Amino acid sequence: MRAVIKADCPKHAREVAAQYWEITEEGTWTRTVGSIGDQQWVAATATSVSHAVLLKSLCRNCDEPIRVTNRSWAVRVGGKYLDRLNDRYLCPECSDVQRRDEERERERRLQAVRAEKEREKLKAEEEARTIAAALADEEAKDGSTSRLPYRRPTALALYLVLINHAAYNPGKPLPSVADLGSLGWTGDTERDTEALLDLYRAHLVAIASETPRKAFDVSEEDGELRFFGPEVKWRLVGGSTTATANARAVRTHFMTAPGQEAHDDRQALAELVDRMEIINVISYLDGLLTKKYDYPAVPEGRRQELADIVRKGFAAGYTSGQMICFAWRAADSAAAWKERNAHMGPPEASSGAVTILNNKIDTAIEVHHAIPEYDPPRWHQQPPALAVLRQLNAEVKRVRDRSVISACPQCDHQGLCETDTGAMVRCIHTATVPEQPESQEDPAEA
Ligand SMILES: [Zn+2]
Ligand SMILES: [Zn+2]
Repeated sequence: MRAVIKADCPKHAREVAAQYWEITEEGTWTRTVGSIGDQQWVAATATSVSHAVLLKSLCRNCDEPIRVTNRSWAVRVGGKYLDRLNDRYLCPECSDVQRRDEERERERRLQAVRAEKEREKLKAEEEARTIAAALADEEAKDGSTSRLPYRRPTALALYLVLINHAAYNPGKPLPSVADLGSLGWTGDTERDTEALLDLYRAHLVAIASETPRKAFDVSEEDGELRFFGPEVKWRLVGGSTTATANARAVRTHFMTAPGQEAHDDRQALAELVDRMEIINVISYLDGLLTKKYDYPAVPEGRRQELADIVRKGFAAGYTSGQMICFAWRAADSAAAWKERNAHMGPPEASSGAVTILNNKIDTAIEVHHAIPEYDPPRWHQQPPALAVLRQLNAEVKRVRDRSVISACPQCDHQGLCETDTGAMVRCIHTATVPEQPESQEDPAEA
């Protein structure tokens, strides 16, 4: 090892330097530390100007002996005895070259990132323009090309629900299916989204300008704008007069339209309402178990069975209020059962509520128990479409109800009556009900 201390150094400076190097070649010592300056400064200076050349440790790149400037580096490169062969380190010159290469590479990457950011910014601006243009097109839809999607009963029914909702929420867009949470409009968000797309294609609803950006996607390939149905906020196309007229046409279709297709639509409406009633009772029971008792919801493995049990209750003629009562009693009994059986956990109690509900409904059917009607509590959220469609379905059924037909003075035994022009049409038996037909057809009253 060759160490060079470039300091005109007396005894103290020599000691300072010795902390950094084992001095094997004497320097020329002519001055005291005090005469050079502050001791720390001397140490720093000695360090900065000293170096060792490790003759056995050659640069990995150029095979020159590596020069180091302090002892700890010397040990790191050359090992304890400064004689280790090197396969890791570069000489200072090669290090510099490497550092400059790295800096250039870093700079290149930074520039690439900046360019990518700029590209993304331009793309976002372009997308914003595309979306704004699409929303302007949506805004321009005035209902002149609207048509009612007959044969799409869910869409027709949902349209009435939307008209009703808009009447109570003036100046606001219709919520997206995602806004409504897991129940959507009818208890099935997929069905709702499909029905909304049917209404969109029929130009009855348009995309509202309040729709969030995340609902849109501009295709990388063709620049085409797409939207994600569940995230879209909607607006009714046409003013309230159009909506009222359309609502009346939809009601008339369900209530009185002749022919197989209208019959199928009525059937579909009845099934839709049945499913919503079942979902309503199930979600009430789940709510009771989770909110009132702090149990888990009915387990996944028993939900189909639960749906069948609730369906059986409705089929036996129990009303929604009575089914709510059954559900309340079932949860109450399950909780009491759990109290009496210390080994029962909350999941068993939730599962037990299904069995108990089944038994209670079977017993009530068998012995003709009188079951009271319960109003669901305030915390219970029923499918938002239920109230409007339950009433529509009841009206549709009333039109064909045997006892209503026989009590109606205006129609024959088939429920048909003659118009001024002599055509036979289905009677809606308005003479037998206190409400005026107008109030039935006003969506705000629905
Ligand atoms: Zn080198
Ligand atoms: Zn009648």
